[in-house]
Amino acid sequence: MMHQIIDMAAQKRIALIAHDERKQDLLEWAEYNRDSLSKHVLYGTGTTGALLSRQLGLSVITVKSGPLGGDQQIGARIVEGVIDVMIFFWDPLASHPHDPDVRALLRVAVMQNIPVATNRASADFMFSSPLMDQPYERQIYDFAKRLRRSPIVEALQDEDSQSS
Ligand code: PGA
Repeated sequence: MMHQIIDMAAQKRIALIAHDERKQDLLEWAEYNRDSLSKHVLYGTGTTGALLSRQLGLSVITVKSGPLGGDQQIGARIVEGVIDVMIFFWDPLASHPHDPDVRALLRVAVMQNIPVATNRASADFMFSSPLMDQPYERQIYDFAKRLRRSPIVEALQDEDSQSS
């Protein structure tokens, strides 16, 4: 089975996102883990990132607020290999205008095989792993091989593979 290897450095680039009803939970978790978080590069959706940086005094690279496209921006960075880890406390009891974006974000995270924590216990287990502070070779399954494409696309791919 073909895999692509992505090298993750000891210092991780971590995305932090929480839906409104889960923000307090994430803030408390982050406060408890402030020292560990301070060793890494932090990204956040607009409001979550602003709250974390105000309450913890940590520098957080923020994108737009989730409902305004921030989840898609984080997803794009995951696909580009700019984000290594995601902590996403999503709310299982609320429906949101940006539910399709949330689904897409979780989808690309699985596809890119990044570690994802969706609640405090999984975030605790993740942060107690020695791999958080070590380089790691992340394997990405070649999903392209499973895609059924139209004959015109397959012909183009055959041509490309024969000429390379
Ligand atoms: P927010 O977005 O951090 O801007 O509130 C989070 C989300 O709802 O996805």
